[in-house]
Amino acid sequence: MKVWPLKFRDLVDGTIFADDAGGWFKSDRGFLDRYGKDQLAPDDLSFLQSNGHAYERVGDLSHTAFAWRWASRQAVASPLAYVILVPTLRCNLSCGYCQVSRAAETARGFDWSSETLKDVLRFLDRLETDQIKIEFQGGEPTLRLDLLEAVRDFCRKRFLRSEFVVCTNLQRLGAAEWSFLEAADTFTSTSVDGDASTHERQRTVSAALTDEFFGNLAMAAERLGPHRMSALPTIDPFSPPDFMSLCETYEQLGIASIYLRPVNHQGFARRRRMRSEEMLLWNRMHSDFIELLIRRNAETGHFLEEYYFTHALRRVLSAGLEHHVDIRNPNLFATDYVLVDFDGKLYPTDEARMLSRIGHVDLSVGHVATGIDGERRAAMNASSMNNFDPDCIHCPYQTFCGTDLIDDVSRYGRVDVPRHDTWFCQRHMALFDKVFELVYRDDVATRLSLARWAGVAEWPIGLARRHS
Ligand code: SF4
Repeated sequence: MKVWPLKFRDLVDGTIFADDAGGWFKSDRGFLDRYGKDQLAPDDLSFLQSNGHAYERVGDLSHTAFAWRWASRQAVASPLAYVILVPTLRCNLSCGYCQVSRAAETARGFDWSSETLKDVLRFLDRLETDQIKIEFQGGEPTLRLDLLEAVRDFCRKRFLRSEFVVCTNLQRLGAAEWSFLEAADTFTSTSVDGDASTHERQRTVSAALTDEFFGNLAMAAERLGPHRMSALPTIDPFSPPDFMSLCETYEQLGIASIYLRPVNHQGFARRRRMRSEEMLLWNRMHSDFIELLIRRNAETGHFLEEYYFTHALRRVLSAGLEHHVDIRNPNLFATDYVLVDFDGKLYPTDEARMLSRIGHVDLSVGHVATGIDGERRAAMNASSMNNFDPDCIHCPYQTFCGTDLIDDVSRYGRVDVPRHDTWFCQRHMALFDKVFELVYRDDVATRLSLARWAGVAEWPIGLARRHS
């Protein structure tokens, strides 16, 4: 019998083992010792075969099943069908951490020209897809409702199916803006950083603007409903909101999925804030928030989730969850989605656009008039997988994890920093440690939440296998 290579990591009460196809179990240092010395006992071999980590002959059922599972864990790029559009960089707010992705509301030269609009429509027209998702970002995109309408009208005629997301600060909405947002194919995404005081500190600054925002937010919940509206909080781990009131704010809006997003400092702000304790603080805060949700869910019977934790949990449990571009492998850029900036330049991600804007490094991958520059994209994508990373290949979480070279460039100026030293790795190592801590926890409240987050009626007791 041959055993597929196993990667391992010590947790608080045992050692987690995983193979390259996403199979996993928990054991102990005794098993690790036998495995390392090639002295596996018959019991060990029998367990490994029954759990899918071994085979007898190349091409037998166990071997083929492993190959299939491995292949189904790789993200396969689909045709370009998701386009993020930045019709204007101007914004009517001035949030502290958003300086590089905005311009003053009265500034000139930060909107698409009429020529850029034509180029955008031509670019969309040439896409080899009959389904499109358009995300309008900014700046504040509703400042150029005319451009949003032109794009939406065009897409509705050109594609069999089209869907639109407007990322708006919901700050100043008149009848025309509401009417645009209320269309059945249009979704609204906004930021709610917690209770009013946190939101005011981080975004609106004045009490009048805060009142205006929360008024519009309540109106959006009523007019659009939770199924066509999403919100997420941006969290500064040095100054987090009161998480209980954050939960209440979201619950009142009818939103059960809360995506805690770390504040994305850029330029000088990032260097000032890149203290090593930031990572520790973030991981501890995130873990505490998951525990808070577990307790709260059990007490209230109203289930809330942290979106990214749920996604990580589901990636551990199942293959094929590649829709979230922050965590997938390979993570090929400018392939199934791309961003068109206010000046027509194409970028692989929003962060790439910000890095280029502050003069850190030019990560543009073409222009909307001429299309994607295949050479620049290929150069980027040469490092967009974790399969051969010298640290990731030894990590039991490799199959569930991903890679983000733009984050690496942004923080370290290079893509070859030892993986364990990166923000991306330290965040995801802690995230998957938490997933496995909970998956093996013998506790009713935890299982209630896990079942709900995994999308099953009841958490299967025997799912998390152990071997000693
Ligand atoms: S980035 Fe870190 S957590 Fe993710 S697979 Fe690589 S070593 Fe593991």
